[in-house]
Amino acid sequence: MKRRKKLLTKSLWRRKKNLTSVVKVAGKKSKKPKKKTRKPSVVKRELDKVFSIYIRQSAADPQGYASCVTCGKSLPWQQQQSGHFVPRSHLSTRWDPRNVHVQCVGCNIFGGGRYPEYALFLTRKYGPEILEELTKAKHTVTKISVQEMEQSILFYKALTGEL
Ligand SMILES: [Zn+2]
Repeated sequence: MKRRKKLLTKSLWRRKKNLTSVVKVAGKKSKKPKKKTRKPSVVKRELDKVFSIYIRQSAADPQGYASCVTCGKSLPWQQQQSGHFVPRSHLSTRWDPRNVHVQCVGCNIFGGGRYPEYALFLTRKYGPEILEELTKAKHTVTKISVQEMEQSILFYKALTGEL
């Protein structure tokens, strides 16, 4: 009888301990800011968005017009797109400002990016070595953490006045 009671007490105590630890964890979780639990895909999308604003806004003239680098069409920067030379799927050059420039929807989407013209533009702007540099960089495997992306978001938000 004594032994049973002892066992029961022990198991109750264990249950209480478990309960306390659950409460503790739950309490801890609620204290953490929600920001830290954001999915990488969500953060990546936000970085894409603010980076695209930066690319188009910084290329605009004082009237707010930005020219497509592959056909020269000038439009308010909000109506233009940001086109990648090395495709977006390569993380190492996805947010490299040398790899991303203003393009009109006609060139970026319907013209498939107009790579020959894009290559000409890049060569004129940065010198001929840029093509090799960006193409080589595309093969480097890059892992970018959520924290790094969050920092970049803040950086580009500050630059674009989106903060
Ligand atoms: Zn164009």
